[in-house]
Amino acid sequence: MLAGYFRALCDKPRLPSGMQAQLEHLSEEITRLQRYINNLEGILALPALCSDGQPPQIVGTLLDALLDFLSLDIVYVRLKNQDGAEPVEMARVMRSPESTTHAKLIGQEFRFWLGHDPQQWPRLVRNPLEDGNIAIVPLRLGLQGELGELVAGAQRPDFPRQAESVLLNVAAQHAALALQQARLLSEQKRAADELDQRIAQRTAELAAANEEFKKQLAERREGTAHHEEKDLKRSEARNAAILDSALDCIVTMDHEGRVTEFNPAAERTFGYRRQEVLGRALADIMIPPSLREHHKRGLARYLATGDERVLGKRLELTATRADGTEFPVELAITRISLDGPPSFTGYVRDITERKRSEEDLRRSKAFLAQALHISSTGSFSWRVATNEMTWSEHLHPIFELDPHAPVTLDLIRTRVHPEDLSVVNDIFDAATRDGGDFDYSFRLLLPGRSIKYLHMIAHGTRDEAGRLEYIGAIQDVTERRRAEEALVNARSELARVARITSMGALAASIAHEVNQPLAGILTNANTCLRMLAADPPNVDGARETARRTIRDGNRACDVITRLRTFFVKKSSTTEPVDLNEATREVIALSLSQLQRSGVVLRPELDEELPPVAGDRVQLQQVVLNLLLNAADAMSDIEDHPRQLVIRTERTEDNHVRLTMQDAGVGIASQDVERLFEPFFSTKSGGMGIGLSVSRSIIESHRGRLWAVPNDGPGATFSFSIPSGLSA
Ligand code: ADP
Repeated sequence: MLAGYFRALCDKPRLPSGMQAQLEHLSEEITRLQRYINNLEGILALPALCSDGQPPQIVGTLLDALLDFLSLDIVYVRLKNQDGAEPVEMARVMRSPESTTHAKLIGQEFRFWLGHDPQQWPRLVRNPLEDGNIAIVPLRLGLQGELGELVAGAQRPDFPRQAESVLLNVAAQHAALALQQARLLSEQKRAADELDQRIAQRTAELAAANEEFKKQLAERREGTAHHEEKDLKRSEARNAAILDSALDCIVTMDHEGRVTEFNPAAERTFGYRRQEVLGRALADIMIPPSLREHHKRGLARYLATGDERVLGKRLELTATRADGTEFPVELAITRISLDGPPSFTGYVRDITERKRSEEDLRRSKAFLAQALHISSTGSFSWRVATNEMTWSEHLHPIFELDPHAPVTLDLIRTRVHPEDLSVVNDIFDAATRDGGDFDYSFRLLLPGRSIKYLHMIAHGTRDEAGRLEYIGAIQDVTERRRAEEALVNARSELARVARITSMGALAASIAHEVNQPLAGILTNANTCLRMLAADPPNVDGARETARRTIRDGNRACDVITRLRTFFVKKSSTTEPVDLNEATREVIALSLSQLQRSGVVLRPELDEELPPVAGDRVQLQQVVLNLLLNAADAMSDIEDHPRQLVIRTERTEDNHVRLTMQDAGVGIASQDVERLFEPFFSTKSGGMGIGLSVSRSIIESHRGRLWAVPNDGPGATFSFSIPSGLSA
């Protein structure tokens, strides 16, 4: 309509020539647009036209439509065949009705010159049907060209215009849709046909089988009495074999409750011979007296009313043996349907063992629950892949969590002490990664700010599909931890008391040790004064004596400092300790005492001794204790030298060992262990705690302290602790 309007305008002669040309151009444009819209409508209608056609029909419609709408010279389609068969080729050529012949020819020609993939062809090619060239547009049918391809060609030099390209694309897409739908329909039809065919075949087979069956039935009916008798005998033999070999007791009873069959398993279980029980009332044989009436009433009710309370069910009840003992059984009763009054078969199984196992299981479960409760332990399982966690009821109170809240790793993390959070994260990360077992301790910080110490162990297992699952236990060890801390405190307090006691024994020697430098200081100070008072004053001499005064002052200071470390109450520390140096200090402190006791000291210290990690003062306390004990043990010895060897050495197993070998009264071999018991002492003023404290100190250094009698006089006390700088 619009085009007509513009054409009318152009026809008016009075319009200026420029404007007229413009209007003519517009009118042409509008005509083209209208044609384009018409063509588009035609192409959009394609699927409807093709809706229930076969692929060749669809392609035919498509080719006709394109040739007509777009004024093409050639349009060619090659459809791939799903079953691997030859592709279908179709073509339409302007001015020629012999499309099929052309199709093959066009396809061959194109492919011969241009290769198999139309997408690679140049856009201007040799016309396969006439001289000259032809412009082509190749298009894929289906997203990847899985349905085939379409090639449109025209000799016009302006082919394809933009609108034509769009139309060709739309047409190709719609054709692909229609083709796919057609394939789907034919697939469905094929499946339906196949099903119909199978049903027909199966029906025929069934009919044949039915005929055969009818024939056999007729033959059997005609069969002789001889056959029946034989069959009966066979069936009886089979029944007898089943009865004899059955593991369960099989007992049959008639409608009056009398036993009619009693298999060997029943004989073994109930303790009766078959012959004894046949014909007797079953209730009197197998049912405890208290339940007999009940049984008889049940049978009578069934016979009168058909009320089957027990038939076909598994029952658990108590049975009785020939010797009167009662035992649990599982029972299933079935009714034997024959002509005449009913009879019943009972399958009876002795479940004494099972009951016992169940009871054991119940008890061990109860024990376990109790043990978990008492030891404040809870168990858990954790499926790593899905992060599913199952907790035993004991765990919720430990974490102070709502027992109904589903447990997740994130929920657990909210309770973990912030300082231990990284440890816990590492545990779970390592578990997820490696699947190994774990054994860790960490703390909780609970909402009321209280702290709990937990110990967690878990074992990782994998199921058949390789999925990792941990089964583990978490124990609240807060109480134990507190007790251990209290024990450590009590021990270190005891060690301090023991040290003070030893110092008491050293009092005289310490006084001497301090007195000596003090006396030196006094003498030097007096001399110094005198030298300064002389005329002229002896300044050089005074300077020298003042220096000596300072030296003696330092010596006294050293002794006091050494002593102070022994009395200070401080918690144990771990540091690298040179055991030789520590031993030398102890010797220095007790030297006067040893001299007065007439002890000849022979130190054999290994100068290559590696350091040990430990508490220096505590180790010195042990050395001092052994030293004083040795001096005590030799105090009454007169017939041989009171020699004491102190030896340090490194051992083959990377330990450092200190040995104190005296020549004292010695120890009886049966007393060797008693010496280390607290409060064991043979001395009149002894407290008997020195050795027990020394042993606990050495053990806390992961070492060992022991005593052996010497071959000759005296005893040897030794301790060894691991060398190295880590405790
Ligand atoms: P105390 O010295 O107060 O008796 P200890 O625990 O140090 O307490 O020693 C316990 C006992 O071990 C001593 O009373 C003594 O009988 C015995 N004993 C310790 N060292 C020696 C030693 N070198 N030779 C013989 N006996 C010893």
